[in-house]
Amino acid sequence: MAVYRNPNIPGYERVLRCADPESGLRAIVAVHDTTLGPALGGCRMWRYDNEDAALADALRLARGMTRKAAVAGLALGGGKAVILGDPRRDKTPALLRAFGRAVERLDGAYVTGEDVGTSVEDMAVVCRETRHVVGLAGASGDPSPVTAAGVRHGIRAAAERRFGAATLAGVTVAVQGLGHVGYNLCRLLHEDGARLVVADPVARRATRAADEFGAAVVAPDAILDSEADVFAPCALGGAIDAGAPARLKAGAVAGAANNQLADAAAGKALRRRGILYAPDYVINAGGLINVSWEALRPGEAYDRASALAEVAAIGPRLAAIFERAARLGVAPERIADEMARERLARPTAA
Ligand code: NAD
Repeated sequence: MAVYRNPNIPGYERVLRCADPESGLRAIVAVHDTTLGPALGGCRMWRYDNEDAALADALRLARGMTRKAAVAGLALGGGKAVILGDPRRDKTPALLRAFGRAVERLDGAYVTGEDVGTSVEDMAVVCRETRHVVGLAGASGDPSPVTAAGVRHGIRAAAERRFGAATLAGVTVAVQGLGHVGYNLCRLLHEDGARLVVADPVARRATRAADEFGAAVVAPDAILDSEADVFAPCALGGAIDAGAPARLKAGAVAGAANNQLADAAAGKALRRRGILYAPDYVINAGGLINVSWEALRPGEAYDRASALAEVAAIGPRLAAIFERAARLGVAPERIADEMARERLARPTAA
């Protein structure tokens, strides 16, 4: 018999903690804000040290989703789910279905999808218990290539702002993490004529990038120090910690990872060193824009070309953020936060 608890967490509309001893599910679903629409955010499965760590991650990610949807101009709120466990060992159909039942309890306030540790195939199982799932095969599918497309637009905008580069030809990009987004991003940057430096603890991913795109491979703990114009964090969050700004040789940080800045001080340190930062939830919104198709246009056939056209707006959006930040003498992430707040204060304005 599953146990559900609803802790009251200030600043969050609803938080659901669930434990289903039969399937082994331990999960947290955080609904941060539904002012603009249902709270959409993927379901992450991760080996958290404990429930508090999982809760902290869910809360942080859910809040980020609210901002991401708001700045992208989507009629969606922010939420996120996390499942505690090792996806390779603990993920079973019974566990995924128990998670689906938890999602269903929220009556559509939260809409789930794949994330780190879960897949499009997993969502097909979750979907047997709840309608509130997006990113299914046959619909918008894997968001990662579209996220990568958005990050490419963002890197172009950052390179133009920081170096006056009209194209990425000859620009060196250091890509940290060659997973679903990072590898696709390398392909797109290679097409643009960029030079690549890459790192991933899974050696075969780095070797493949070397073979396919002529990328230079460095060890994961050396990627921050590599000679590059742009640093693209595409692994986990917190890549820009207290020590990172002093190590970076790049003039811009623009990548896919969520929560790239370990804290506000890291953002300030980047700025002090003249390193342009592309706010993570603005540059990596491509996947959300892609999947929003299913949530916001039910019954309408998914169209990749139209989704990619919407994602292209990430470039000009970031350029406008960089411009406003420079004009006001503040950090780009502050402008992005302000834009999110402005939109949430006027929910009917697109
Ligand atoms: P993924 O798990 O497929 O890839 C992550 C990669 O990073 C893996 O190859 C892993 O081996 C590598 N990695 C781990 N630690 C590393 C380290 N210290 N140095 C270098 N590489 C390391 O994940 P993904 O779907 O590609 O997502 C990457 C990031 O982008 C995550 O932060 C995710 O939250 C964010 N994001 C993804 C999407 C999406 O559409 N998938 C959308 C928005 C944001």
